[in-house]
Amino acid sequence: MERGKEGAAGAAAVADARARRYRAGYTAEERRAVEGSLLQGRLRGVCATNALELGIDVGALDVTLHLGFPGNVASLWQQAGRAGRREQQALSILIAFDGPLDQYFVRHPKRLFERPLERASIDPTNRQIMQQHCACAAYELPLDPRPGGPDAAFFGASLQREAAACFKRGELGKNPEMPSEANLRYIGELRGGPAKGISLRAIDEEIYQVFEEGTGKLVEEVEASKAFFQVYEGAIYMNQGHKFLCLKLDMDNQTATVRKSSVGYYTSVVEFKDIEVMGGNKAYDNHVVAARELEAGGSTAQVAPARYVAHITAFNKFWLRTGEMFDTVKVNLPPTTYDTFATWIKVPDAVKAAVRREDREFKAGLHAAGHALLNVLPLYILCNPEDVGCECANKYETRYKPSRVLLYDKQPGGTGISSQVRPIFGNLLEAARDLIKGCECDEPTGCPSCCHHTDCNQYNAVLDKRAALMVLEGTLAAQREEEEEGGDGAVNCLPCADQGAFFPGSPIRHVR
Ligand SMILES: [Zn+2]
Ligand SMILES: [Zn+2]
Repeated sequence: MERGKEGAAGAAAVADARARRYRAGYTAEERRAVEGSLLQGRLRGVCATNALELGIDVGALDVTLHLGFPGNVASLWQQAGRAGRREQQALSILIAFDGPLDQYFVRHPKRLFERPLERASIDPTNRQIMQQHCACAAYELPLDPRPGGPDAAFFGASLQREAAACFKRGELGKNPEMPSEANLRYIGELRGGPAKGISLRAIDEEIYQVFEEGTGKLVEEVEASKAFFQVYEGAIYMNQGHKFLCLKLDMDNQTATVRKSSVGYYTSVVEFKDIEVMGGNKAYDNHVVAARELEAGGSTAQVAPARYVAHITAFNKFWLRTGEMFDTVKVNLPPTTYDTFATWIKVPDAVKAAVRREDREFKAGLHAAGHALLNVLPLYILCNPEDVGCECANKYETRYKPSRVLLYDKQPGGTGISSQVRPIFGNLLEAARDLIKGCECDEPTGCPSCCHHTDCNQYNAVLDKRAALMVLEGTLAAQREEEEEGGDGAVNCLPCADQGAFFPGSPIRHVR
């Protein structure tokens, strides 16, 4: 199983016509063809992302080869289980990468085999998912969204709000013969029902279709939130081992036109990403929860709704042979935004001052600390790099940024990971500190076993290992002080943590 996108191993596999590639973005037709060939034994192998991990019958394989620890034990066993079915013997080989978890399990293999499966994170109140459920349910039977009604028992308290959103969009309507609020039907445009338009693998409903120039063949469908990263004009885009040059991105029709290409470079976007924490009107709730956590020996970490905003300003071209960057092209794309959730902890101003006294870059310390947290997170919660992110520092960024270590749900609408992380934030800080302390690398910017992260949108630039350790230790020390003060509810006010000013009218005493 291949962890990332189309990599070098994939290229080697596809050179043999009896090996194919497989990933979620391929058209359904293409995926069914690969699955069928595999099941009938016509293929010797398939090089896949985790799209082939479960839910698809691929028959009995002999061997699974795992390129890197997939991020959690549940996935690893699921992938390994693709071989040796029907009581046959099988072999699974894990090829460890440089990543911290890979190296950790190489040093302690017993812990891999003895490890229980991680806790899965689901958010039944995710608004996008709830609205999709409403439409599907109303397609099958009339929906009664009234509070206390029969359907509220299954869908929860937010049913009425989400059904109203579907109603407003014209997906749900009243039956003209029985125009009661308790009788909503699916009246959307999708033939065969709303399920046809819902992906089980992604929350994003909107997709961009990628067509080949000339033949008009549909090459792939890309989620809207990823389209600007993959099929902007001038992008080199990979599909089934073939390289394509993106000629046009049509935002009105949500299509991209590509042409087969044999250029010797690849492209990657330059982006500025902001996580704007909202939730100012939820300050009181968070105060109360945070205070309670503190009494229980937790941390003052908070969780709140947030908005993800990404601006792609340019793309870089890199030579394939050397990986050297040789050109930067400016692009003009609207920002990508979506609502999600974030959890964060404030880093004391004294830590910032101490880092600067050592002539180190504070934002590089926050960035490296965020990576270290992401690196240890899968030890506690079932998640992979596509699920959760941190704030990555940009080399050219000079705007004010709050002094905080923040993690956010990367899926639009959130998947509940931030809420699960908040109570264990203190444990994560300790584990991240231990990871950095225990890494013997003497690189000032850390290494893939401590401060680097595979999914860093800044390509692991602006990192400082020593500053990260100061950030983590300083924040932990501040937490201990809070605890010693007795957890009397005197925690950082949510808006203050962000805006650096007192929040008027809060019933809770503030500390800075
Ligand atoms: Zn290291
Ligand atoms: Zn990063």
